[in-house]
Amino acid sequence: SFPADAVPQAPEDPLFGLMAAYRADDFDKKVDLGIGAYRDDNAKPWVLPVVKKADEILRSDPALNHEYLPIAGLATFTAAAAKLILGADSPALTEKRTSSTQTISGTGALHLGALFLSKFFPGHPTVYFSNPTWANHHQIFSNVSMPIASYPYFSKSTKGLDFEGMKQAIADAPERSIIVLHACAHNPTGVDPTQSQWKELAVLLREKSHFPFFDCAYQGFASGDLAKDAWAVRYFVEQGFEMCIAQSFAKNFGLYGERAGCFHFVTGPGADAQSTIGRIASQLTILQRSEISNPPAYGARIAGLVMNDEALFKEWEQNLKTMAGRIIDMRKSLRSKLEEMGTPGTWNHITDQIGMFSFTGLTEKQVLKLREVSHVYMTKNGRISMAGLNTHNIDYFAKAVDKVVR
Ligand code: PMP
Repeated sequence: SFPADAVPQAPEDPLFGLMAAYRADDFDKKVDLGIGAYRDDNAKPWVLPVVKKADEILRSDPALNHEYLPIAGLATFTAAAAKLILGADSPALTEKRTSSTQTISGTGALHLGALFLSKFFPGHPTVYFSNPTWANHHQIFSNVSMPIASYPYFSKSTKGLDFEGMKQAIADAPERSIIVLHACAHNPTGVDPTQSQWKELAVLLREKSHFPFFDCAYQGFASGDLAKDAWAVRYFVEQGFEMCIAQSFAKNFGLYGERAGCFHFVTGPGADAQSTIGRIASQLTILQRSEISNPPAYGARIAGLVMNDEALFKEWEQNLKTMAGRIIDMRKSLRSKLEEMGTPGTWNHITDQIGMFSFTGLTEKQVLKLREVSHVYMTKNGRISMAGLNTHNIDYFAKAVDKVVR
């Protein structure tokens, strides 16, 4: 029989463990900079006004029911999702060589992509992640028995991109490796390649016939501009790459728990592209059927409604600007407070970095001391969720940092 008593204890998820510790702390000035979820200036979750509106429209529809979605998801949602990331006039869409499958948010998209590649990508390739990366990447690809490795990404000295190290590792990887790239607002570092660096990366990937897998969890959330945040993906499509894209609507719609996401496979241009994508789509359907049968409806209905309605779409863009703008303000404010106090070290990286997170450069020892002395909660690698800062706690946080680095 199955020796159930031999199952070892698994470690607690570090992030969700941190959240529990924060909740258990009853200090009134405690600060939560752990989880990557947007908070308003009062440290409260924010339901986007456009999401509220879409929700009311959906609920007032007498024809709304709870039937299953098709296996590949809500077609109006997946088509709009593809347009959003690729651009409406993308050759990958006009040439009908994209297959889009609705998934359980970004995580589900990564999983479906990983599962598909593990079955159909010839030669048992290694999957390369940035070091560091979103920790779940390792688990998702290991779970489908793909070998994993990493490329340098973050430079401890500049607190920016280690571009030379990154290029070297990608050049040294065996031909036809899978390279996972964060489309924008890299998690956990907040450091993105510049457009000219992306262009160099494209040349390098092409030379080695590597396969890009874009993880896009923050489109519109990083800069406040949907097209700008999709630039790298669109550039690689323009260059004729075949690729996977995992797309999350958790952050940019604030639909975290509704699990709205999409997986896109884009084939390269060519006469056979349409028949190739048809076969790929058929396999994705089989995989999806055995994994989740069909995806959850509600978040996709909300996001789909907004993306397909011109007025709602415009309102969404405003909501994105509100979120991205508040975070950019917090970056400026934190940097200037630290610089005003003469806090040891350089702090330009706080405003150079982009998106939800900042890699502060604080050491694990300092992070633990901040938690103990000042009740400030962040991950041990020194990452802070910028959304956890607001006009009420930023002064307290800056002073706590100043104290701990002196
Ligand atoms: N990739 C990255 C880099 C992320 O930061 C996240 C969210 N933390 C995801 C994927 C997926 O998140 P979700 O499944 O909630 O869409």
